[in-house]
Amino acid sequence: MIWYILALIGAAVLLFFLSLRLRKQIGLPGGKIIYSDVKMWGQPLEKPLFDGSIGLVGKPDYLIRQKGEVIPVEVKSCRAPNAPYDSHIFQLAAYCLLVEKVYQVQPTHGLIHYPGRTFSIEFTPQLREQTLTLISGMHRLERSTNIPRSHQESARCNSCGYKNHCDQRL
Ligand code: SF4
Repeated sequence: MIWYILALIGAAVLLFFLSLRLRKQIGLPGGKIIYSDVKMWGQPLEKPLFDGSIGLVGKPDYLIRQKGEVIPVEVKSCRAPNAPYDSHIFQLAAYCLLVEKVYQVQPTHGLIHYPGRTFSIEFTPQLREQTLTLISGMHRLERSTNIPRSHQESARCNSCGYKNHCDQRL
């Protein structure tokens, strides 16, 4: 029996340190992980966040609750740029809007993590407005037919926040 209890304690300590290491690797801030789209240790994946009023649905990589705030974190595997790509900023801002709707708390900022580098993005009223405008523009485009791609740059598609839904991706 004592060996069983010791094994359980050992497993708990191991999981604790693994989780600390993972948090450090992906640049998560302190606070409680309340949502994760990344499968960890057999946990089921979360349902998407949804705001029907603006027609927005999305799955942030992580949401961290920290002192009453909810901070979205987006983890990117591409090489860290000097400044975050616009598409990544708008993707993060869209998650801020979803947090606003679902958790009834407006994030002050979110984090974009690239390998070895994390950017904190302030969720300003200006970014909020720009994101809402972008979303309504996208819905307008969705309603129209056959909008052609305006470039031949595969790198641009690779870093685009809509690449998983775009049938014109390079
Ligand atoms: S994935 Fe689609 S929307 Fe994004 S840059 Fe490429 S063509 Fe444009």
